[in-house]
Amino acid sequence: MVNLCITTQCKYFKLKLIMDDIVIIGGGIIGAASAYFLSKEGRKVKVIEQDPTYKKASFPLSLGGFRRQFFQKENILLGKFAREFIFQVPELLKTKKNPNPTTSVVPNGYLFLFGPDHANEQYEALKNHKECEAGTKNIKGTELRKKFPYVNDDGIETVTYTDDKKEGWIDPYLFHSALKNKASELGAQFIKGEIKDVSEINSNIIICAVGYNTNNLLKDVPVVPQKHTVFRVSCPDHIPEMPLTSDFTTGVYWRPEGKEYLAGSPISKFDVKDLEPDWDHFEDLVWPALAKRVPIFEKLKLTGGWAGFYDCNKLDNNAVVGKHPKFKNLYLASGFTGRGLMQAPGIARALTELINTGSYQSIDLSALAVERVLENRKKPEPYVL
Ligand SMILES: Cc1cc2nc3c(=O)[nH]c(=O)nc-3n(C[C@H](O)[C@H](O)[C@H](O)COP(=O)(O)OP(=O)(O)OC[C@H]3O[C@@H](n4cnc5c(N)ncnc54)[C@H](O)[C@@H]3O)c2cc1C
Repeated sequence: MVNLCITTQCKYFKLKLIMDDIVIIGGGIIGAASAYFLSKEGRKVKVIEQDPTYKKASFPLSLGGFRRQFFQKENILLGKFAREFIFQVPELLKTKKNPNPTTSVVPNGYLFLFGPDHANEQYEALKNHKECEAGTKNIKGTELRKKFPYVNDDGIETVTYTDDKKEGWIDPYLFHSALKNKASELGAQFIKGEIKDVSEINSNIIICAVGYNTNNLLKDVPVVPQKHTVFRVSCPDHIPEMPLTSDFTTGVYWRPEGKEYLAGSPISKFDVKDLEPDWDHFEDLVWPALAKRVPIFEKLKLTGGWAGFYDCNKLDNNAVVGKHPKFKNLYLASGFTGRGLMQAPGIARALTELINTGSYQSIDLSALAVERVLENRKKPEPYVL
């Protein structure tokens, strides 16, 4: 048991009970971002992390992508704030020890390709983009090659993209370190420990931010590990300005990584414990899809790969955020299903507002409340890469 409970002090023969203010379970990207936002507002925060090397966490395995191209308005708005926050990291997260924090932003944009099966859904999504001023651009499939001459337009009906540094990717590890260091400077304590049951903690507020481990601590929340494989490939023809591209006709997505590329498998798996990459997906699915869509990829070579777990909300692939109604003081932030890195600043700010004022002040995330999951009310996000 982690020693976080009420401690007694017998000083001057008086009994003084000291209860922690806020305890965050899980020091991953959501835990670190929450520690930063809450500490900035003067709250006393302790973060309990089972593995300070973060070998078990999802965030270091992520592709670092941040985007505003989603279906649901909440996710578009969280994506907009992600960009705003990321570009301010050098100023907001500088510390005495690290006066020049960076996240190594590559603002190449995103390019989403839709065939006839997904086009109507995307036309609906574009209405939300417009309402939220997402700043995305939409063209017909037949116009694709004018803008992206290296992409084959075969079977593409509609295309959405950004080309003005609104979307891109960052180094997830640097982002996490910058948040954690700044939170520590502001007074947050990061402590090693594994919480087996939330009842072990005695504090005013508990935030459960344990990623894909959520269902182990909260049995009524269907957020579970979903294995995803990513391949690293090299190609003699390099296009460094290529955006993060997702081909919704095959489910394969890719982006440049230095002088190489990363490409994600369209097949994910539940109920597996190992993180051995599913290598067979490369020859069977990923390479053929890449070579068909970007002909220079016919010449690519596999150079590596890894697998990681998404914190998947099995109900609707959408986040679960807010106070858990069955506890008097427990808040939850999980179920990001492939977008927890980019959503961390917006979610952490939202939790801070909710805890400090009782309601959301910036982005209204009431539609992602824990109650919706407990009552089986779906709010699906279809644009999961
Ligand atoms: C291959 C891959 C690619 C991805 N690409 C992207 C992307 O491009 N963009 C994006 O935004 N997201 C991406 N993601 C998703 C993103 O990584 C996750 O949504 C995000 O990391 C979730 O953050 P988290 O803090 O909730 O969980 P984690 O990052 O997993 O952190 C949870 C922490 O809690 C700790 N913990 C767990 N249980 C306990 C316990 N009982 N007691 C104490 N500590 C505990 C863990 O050790 C861990 O450090 C990707 C994920 C993968 C696997």
